[in-house]
Amino acid sequence: MHSKIAKTANRGSFPVHRLKYEPLGLVLIVIILLLTISTNCRMTQKTETTVAADPKDITQTNDPLDIHRRAIAIDMHADTTQRLLDEQIDISRRLPDGHFDSVRARDGGLDAQFFSIWVEPQLFGGGGAGAMKRADDQIAAVRALSDQYPETWEMATTSADIRRIAAAGKLAALMGLEGGYAMDERLENVQRYYQMGVRYMSPAWSVSTSWAGSSNDEVGQTRGLNDFGKSVIREMNRLGMMVDVSHVSDKTFWDIINTSSKPIIATHSGCRAIANVPRNLDDEMIRAIAKGRGVVCVPFYPAFLEPGWDDKKKKVDAEIASLVQKASEEESGSIAQKKIARDLVRRDEYAKRLPRTSVSRLVDHIDHIVKLVGIDHVGVGSDFDGVQSTLSDLATVEDLPNLTRELLRRGYSESDVEKILGGNVLRLMEEVQK
Ligand SMILES: [Zn+2]
Repeated sequence: MHSKIAKTANRGSFPVHRLKYEPLGLVLIVIILLLTISTNCRMTQKTETTVAADPKDITQTNDPLDIHRRAIAIDMHADTTQRLLDEQIDISRRLPDGHFDSVRARDGGLDAQFFSIWVEPQLFGGGGAGAMKRADDQIAAVRALSDQYPETWEMATTSADIRRIAAAGKLAALMGLEGGYAMDERLENVQRYYQMGVRYMSPAWSVSTSWAGSSNDEVGQTRGLNDFGKSVIREMNRLGMMVDVSHVSDKTFWDIINTSSKPIIATHSGCRAIANVPRNLDDEMIRAIAKGRGVVCVPFYPAFLEPGWDDKKKKVDAEIASLVQKASEEESGSIAQKKIARDLVRRDEYAKRLPRTSVSRLVDHIDHIVKLVGIDHVGVGSDFDGVQSTLSDLATVEDLPNLTRELLRRGYSESDVEKILGGNVLRLMEEVQK
C-alpha cells in the first residue's frame, strides 16, 4: 500500500478513472499501463541506487510531497522504544499522543527509524545487571516489531537493508545505544550489542561514564576517553558500529575524533553558532566531523534549535518542580511509569509557558552546516518521544514533509533534499560497514 512503487503506480493510474468512458479509453489505458510498468522499473532502480531524477521522466514532478516521497527518509533518533516497553503502546495504530507510530510514520513518508536504546542511569544504573537488562528489554521490544507487524516493519542493520525495505514499501527498524551504561565497562559487550543488531552507540548520555565524559555534568567538563574508552571506539570501528558524539563532553568529542578510524555521526545535535547549549556542536567540531566524512543529524527539539529557549525552559522547570514532584508521587506504578507522569506535566506546562518554534529554525541549522562544510554532512535525528516539546509545524513524524517543503523553499535541489533526508546517512553507513 505505502510502497514508493505502489504510490507511483497510483499516480500513473489516476487518469484511467477519468478516461474510463471516452472513445479512446482502451488505447489510452494500454499506453498508461505501459508507462506505469516502465515507471515501476525505473523507480525500483532509483530507490536502490539513488540516481538523480531524470527530467524526461513524466512521473518526476516538482511537487514537494512527491520529492519527499521519492527520497529515502531516515530518522537517526527516536525514543519510542521506551513507550513500546513501559506503556505497551500499539504502534500499528494512529496514537492520540506522542510523536510516533506506524501510521503517522507512513503518512510522513519516513522509510527508516533508528530506535534509541536508552538506559537512564539514575533509574537503571550506570552499569551492572540492571542497566544491561534495561537495554536488552528495549532491544527485544524493537526486534519484536517485525514479528508483530510483518506487513509494516522489518529489522535492518545495513544500508542495503534500508534500501531494500524502503523499495518494498515497508518501514525499516534499526537500533542505537544512547549512552554506554549497558556496556558495563566490558569490551566484549560491544560485540554483544552489535550481534543483537545495535548499529550506533554514544559513549555517554547526560551522566558521564568512568570512560567517557558527558556534556551535561560537572565531571564531563574535564573527562575525555580513558584507555578503555579508546579501546571501545576501536572495537566499534572494527565491527562496523557507528560512533555517536551526541551528548558527549567536548574533551570526549576530540578524543573520539583522534581515536576513530571511521567516519563518526552526531545523531541528534544542532549548532552552537545558533543555539549555544553544551549539547550542540561548535563550528570547529562540525568541520572535524565533515573532514572525517561524518554526518551531523539535526534534532527537532526547540531547546537545541531556538536561541534562549533552553534558558526559558530551565526557568519553567524551576517553577513547575513541585507540580512535577506531585505527579510522580501520585503515580503508584513502576519507576518508568513515574517518569511518564512527570513528563506529562512537563509537556502540558511547556506548551502553556514556552514560545513555539517552527521548522524554519531547524532549517537555519541545516543551512549553517551546509555553508560550513557542504551538503554531504547533514542529516536528521528527531528525538521524537524523547522530548516534551516539539516544533509547531513538525510536531510529529507525520509532519516530516514540512521539512522538505521548507528546504525546497530555500532553494535546495531534489538531490540536496535526498542527501539531507537520508542519502548522507546511507553513505556513512556504507563506509562504516566496510
Ligand atoms: Zn538524547
